[in-house]
Amino acid sequence: MDRVLEGRTALITGSTSGIGLGIALLYAQAGARVMLNGLGKPEDIAAARAQVGAAMGVAEAPYSPADLSSPAAVRQMVKEAEAALGSVDILVNNAGIQFVAPIDEFPEDKWDLIIAINLSSNYHAIKAALPGMKARNFGRIINVASAHGLIASPYKSAYVTAKHGVIGLTKTVALEVAQTNITSNAICPGFVRTPLAEAQIPPLAKKHGVSEEVALKDFLLEHQPSKKWVEVAEVAQMALFLAGPNSGAMNGSAYSIDGGWTAA
Ligand code: NAD
Repeated sequence: MDRVLEGRTALITGSTSGIGLGIALLYAQAGARVMLNGLGKPEDIAAARAQVGAAMGVAEAPYSPADLSSPAAVRQMVKEAEAALGSVDILVNNAGIQFVAPIDEFPEDKWDLIIAINLSSNYHAIKAALPGMKARNFGRIINVASAHGLIASPYKSAYVTAKHGVIGLTKTVALEVAQTNITSNAICPGFVRTPLAEAQIPPLAKKHGVSEEVALKDFLLEHQPSKKWVEVAEVAQMALFLAGPNSGAMNGSAYSIDGGWTAA
């Protein structure tokens, strides 16, 4: 593949699984040196580091264990990335969690945690990485928001609030850097085929007494007009384009990849 990110460095949060891992792998294949971040089982983290490292031509990709619910840990992660890679040219704020409950039963600790990880960590990481980007007059900030950054669904108050906030942050940063070679954009996926998302199908099928195929189309992908998953690779390709050499004029936008969800 074209090595459009040759010489570039990237810090990708939540890149030990799912969408973040897909972006990290594609960036490494495109020539970037990447630092991973994320929680999870040590063996899964080691496997992700080895997989992305192989694409970078090293034994293992650099990794930060930062828990993004802590602002100090986010700042430390950016420092470590700058030390390990020499710079952070591309920052992908991807880590995110979900919790579902009616607002009047929504636990306060879950609300605080989702706002901290899904929204505030983006602010802390951008704030820490931007001075280096400004000094080098190059930067790409890519925030993985969601279709839920543009529209709501019931029972996801914290997630929807955080993702709407991510898009507001994306736009504000874009205006502040508009006359530099730094850009700030968001990606808004619909339902993406990841191991965690796929794991929701069997319980849904059981609950409604239907086949897994029907559970996928009629329940999980109820709002996705395509009735098809968005693939991790499709999100990663958008993240690659936004990081690459032909996206300099793309700034302050939220790009939907959602099988028509937000068109409905
Ligand atoms: P995932 O659970 O597979 O990956 C999430 C990553 O974030 C993991 O690496 C995890 O370790 C990391 N993470 C979670 N909490 C963390 C913390 N406190 N500190 C550091 N890392 C932490 O999820 P995914 O589906 O790949 O989601 C990635 C992003 O895409 C999220 O922001 C999510 O909201 C968004 N998104 C996902 C979908 C979907 O259908 N999968 C749709 C729209 C948006």
